[in-house]
Amino acid sequence: MSASHMDRVAALSKRRGFVFPGSEIYGGLQATYDYGPMGAELKRLIKEDWWRVMVRDREDVVGLDASILMAARVWEVSGHVAGFNDPLVDCKECKGRFRADRLAEAVCPKKPSRHPGECGHELTEPRQFNLMFRTKAGPVDDEAATVYLRPETAQGIFVNFKNVLETTRVRIPFGIAQIGKAFRNEIVTGNQLFRMREFEQMEMEFFCAPGTEEEWHAHWKEARLAWWRSLGVRAEKVRLRDHAADELAHYAKACADVEYEYPWGWDEVEGVANRTDFDLKAHQAGSGRGLAYRDEEQKAWVIPYVIEPSAGVDRCFLTILCDAYEEEVKPNGETRTVLRLHPRLAPIQVGVFPLVKKDGMPERARALYEGLKRTWRAQYDEGGTVGKRYARLDEIGTPYCVTIDSDTLVDGTVTVRDRDSMTQERVAAGQVGAYLEERERTWRRAAAAEPR
Ligand code: ATP
Repeated sequence: MSASHMDRVAALSKRRGFVFPGSEIYGGLQATYDYGPMGAELKRLIKEDWWRVMVRDREDVVGLDASILMAARVWEVSGHVAGFNDPLVDCKECKGRFRADRLAEAVCPKKPSRHPGECGHELTEPRQFNLMFRTKAGPVDDEAATVYLRPETAQGIFVNFKNVLETTRVRIPFGIAQIGKAFRNEIVTGNQLFRMREFEQMEMEFFCAPGTEEEWHAHWKEARLAWWRSLGVRAEKVRLRDHAADELAHYAKACADVEYEYPWGWDEVEGVANRTDFDLKAHQAGSGRGLAYRDEEQKAWVIPYVIEPSAGVDRCFLTILCDAYEEEVKPNGETRTVLRLHPRLAPIQVGVFPLVKKDGMPERARALYEGLKRTWRAQYDEGGTVGKRYARLDEIGTPYCVTIDSDTLVDGTVTVRDRDSMTQERVAAGQVGAYLEERERTWRRAAAAEPR
């Protein structure tokens, strides 16, 4: 996978309505992206899959949906006002701004073959730059009106810990999960959806008894890696990497990243952190409200420890697209572009076509489509040659296409064409639903032996 792979993925995302640059008709707003019709569907499917695995399938995790605007005090107490900083340096010559800890990944705007500072010009001393977006709530523009757009969804969970404990049947150990927008005024953005200023997170805070946190950390590291693999991402391209002590955030005692091998190298898609009792302890002290739970065995009030798996929705989206994108030479020598999305994540799972627009084929195809769309994300298409329709659906990752032809009118069978192998099979029209179900259940990446 090369850097141009990334350009091709970005071109396909735009061409097929997955991702558009934000505010594009006004020249764009750096590091913002809008999800098009296909992208909105894929993004929703990613979030639904995460919610299913993290909340619905578990008895020990419940959901939450907290607000983006939070009292300034939350962020003072959590340590973000003082400590959620990146070190910033300026080039004295070109005035370019860079993250001092990521110079090796940056390029000099004047001499792109060099890193900043290696181009013969001097950089300023690093200074701390706070990543939080600040705004004012209400009509009075004074300091007391300052609020922050949350830079992580986690704090919304911590401040609601007691509410959840008191209103549900969960008991330690248990988790609270949330999906929502987060905002960071990143110094340097780039790699399309990888680093944006407005993005979405899928986070879960798992509260456990002190002394059990290492066991739970190990559990969640493995569980999260397994989820990434279940998305159909190539197994050899995802891994866990433990942080070195100097990489840890101000609240963490240990952290492991789930990393993916992007066109530019291995990088983080998810962090699984041991946040200790740092946040709840700080909020207990800061708010004056008791945030301990009653441990009946010890007959004591205890502040739980927290393990946090935190994944970015947009990074997950980018990972899935990068991994699924392939260009392949067909037996006839033509090249086709195909998105090998897991059928579970395909925005359109099945295309239904009449071979030609006559002899009752459109009516038969429409009737089949109407039936399938109750269970499957289906699309009816009668425009252009069948080859063109296949090519378009290959590019949006549709795993199966069903064609109604003259044989259908005689014997009631249809052709089902498989996106990955391009093979075609005749199936009785009434059996298409069952056929798709079986194919989705047993889907595996064509090139890999491993089931997905
Ligand atoms: P990085 O080191 O890449 O800046 P981070 O360690 O600061 O990331 P976390 O605070 O652990 O990130 O956030 C959890 C997850 O949120 C990340 O793994 C990533 O998927 C996502 N995320 C963080 N910052 C951004 C961003 N600017 N744009 C898109 N996703 C992001």
